[in-house]
Amino acid sequence: MWQIEKSGRGVAGQTVVITSVFFFLFGIIVGSFLNVCITRIPEEISIVTPGSRCPRCSTPIKPYDNVPVFAWLWLRGKCRGCGLPISPMYPLIELAAGLLFVAAFLEFGITQTTVKWLFFTCLILILTVIDLRVRMLPDIVNWPGFAAGLMFSAFVPPDHGFAGFLAWRFLNIHVLPAFLEGILDGILEAAFGSFLLWGLAALYKVVRGHEGMGMGDVKMIAMIGAFLGLRGTFLTLLVGSLLGSLVGIGASRRGLGTERQLRWAIARQYQLPLGTFLGIGALAVVYGGPVIAGYWPSLRGIVA
Ligand SMILES: [Zn+2]
Repeated sequence: MWQIEKSGRGVAGQTVVITSVFFFLFGIIVGSFLNVCITRIPEEISIVTPGSRCPRCSTPIKPYDNVPVFAWLWLRGKCRGCGLPISPMYPLIELAAGLLFVAAFLEFGITQTTVKWLFFTCLILILTVIDLRVRMLPDIVNWPGFAAGLMFSAFVPPDHGFAGFLAWRFLNIHVLPAFLEGILDGILEAAFGSFLLWGLAALYKVVRGHEGMGMGDVKMIAMIGAFLGLRGTFLTLLVGSLLGSLVGIGASRRGLGTERQLRWAIARQYQLPLGTFLGIGALAVVYGGPVIAGYWPSLRGIVA
């Protein structure tokens, strides 16, 4: 709220609250669709038909039991048909989408930039949760996401004219059309992110003696690069790998007394969901960066 008032657009507090509620409701409805993507894409089931049904008893879910967040609450987390528990993942993702949509409105207002970050948030939520659940980053999300990132770059440039600088420095071209510069920036930054991650992976393999990631992670960071630009991609890799190492260390420090704990530790160490950490890193950069820059203006240009 502070940012909108500061920018002098004169939006009254009440309007901000009403619009935030609208963004929240919109977010939880979109979140409900993200749940469909998250559960169906890895199983290669259509995300359009059939309608929502209980994964255990296959009873179609009635519209009034399909209301995002609230239905789970009034059903007390149990299917009306078979009485078996419904995963809290569903309301949590809807809630996360709702809150992130509100954050996007509060930070970026109602602008093209907001549309870009809302779209990006949805892609990231899908990949983050799919990777956490099944250690997979589907191409069907990565590639269209990458294309969308380039398209958005034409309207909302991802960085500060890196492509323009290269064109001027090496090709002596002084003015590139803005949309072209945006797209070229997106491509450059996607390549930058992929190479950096690929380098990190090679390093990891040398140090640890086994693969730490798959090609899905490289494609995901290319998609992130097309949206976030050089600085944002670099920060995402930084936050993501830091989170990954912390969780990895935590996992290896766990007691190895029983066979079960041992198996858990091995699974965690060999298949850390890097995509999940990258996703959390990317969201932290988009939503946390402007907040940090607001508190510490000297960090502007680094974090946002
Ligand atoms: Zn059921």
